[in-house]
Amino acid sequence: MNCPPVAGLDAYLRRRMPADDTARFREHLDACPSCWDRWNHFRWDQAADSLLLNDLQVFLRDDFEPYFDSSVALAHSWTEAAPQTQDEIADFFRTSIAYLYNLSIWEASGNRPPYASDAIRVLGDRGARVVLDYGCGIGSDTLTLLDSGFAVIACDYHSPSTEFLRWRAARRGLAIDIYEPDQLGPGPAPDTLWIIDTIDQLADLATLTPILRQVDLLVCEELRHDRGHGSQGFHHRRNPHEVGSFFAAHGLTELRKPANGVSLSYWTRPPAERNA
Ligand SMILES: [Zn+2]
Repeated sequence: MNCPPVAGLDAYLRRRMPADDTARFREHLDACPSCWDRWNHFRWDQAADSLLLNDLQVFLRDDFEPYFDSSVALAHSWTEAAPQTQDEIADFFRTSIAYLYNLSIWEASGNRPPYASDAIRVLGDRGARVVLDYGCGIGSDTLTLLDSGFAVIACDYHSPSTEFLRWRAARRGLAIDIYEPDQLGPGPAPDTLWIIDTIDQLADLATLTPILRQVDLLVCEELRHDRGHGSQGFHHRRNPHEVGSFFAAHGLTELRKPANGVSLSYWTRPPAERNA
């Protein structure tokens, strides 16, 4: 593929490209440093006027670095740290500033689908009340779900990303508890598992088993779409069937897509088998 015209960046960012073109585009970005650099500048420029990026700047104060290429930094720091054990991997995320930038620029640029606002109606229709946001990161969805009246249990490794979430929540007058994945506390049991951009980061899907037994609804990103992760080494590229079979083995069935649900996949438990 020759270097794509600049106009392609906008269609790519806003997910307005057919899937095949998107895959080719991403492949080219990964292989062509000058186009990657254009893309990084473009997404920063798109994010420039967002409240989120402004918040990040205030949060990081003098450390804020405009146009920081968080994707490249993440990939390099992963290679350098070469974490092997679960503890080493957890520590990588617990200290990663690049991950904070990466999650922020993904959302602030408009590249991240508005997952939570897309899902509000279905969550309401399905009787969701207590949502476990597993792998909440900077809380892109936690805050939207809280604003929409759901109780949210935020869960992720305590890290610069979750500190930013705590800070943003406090500015909205919200106090939230953020639990580490292995310390999901006594609080209210979740009826809904919200797990976005996290499944492919789990070393073992079985980590989710106790949660899958608890919930009657699961929402994740559409597994059949190209879950392209660039060159980030911490992703396990799982076959959609493997993930779907795992959910099905825990009594969950995939719902037919709602009209606006292209970016999400919903799994429910049949009424007779519900926990709640
Ligand atoms: Zn190029």
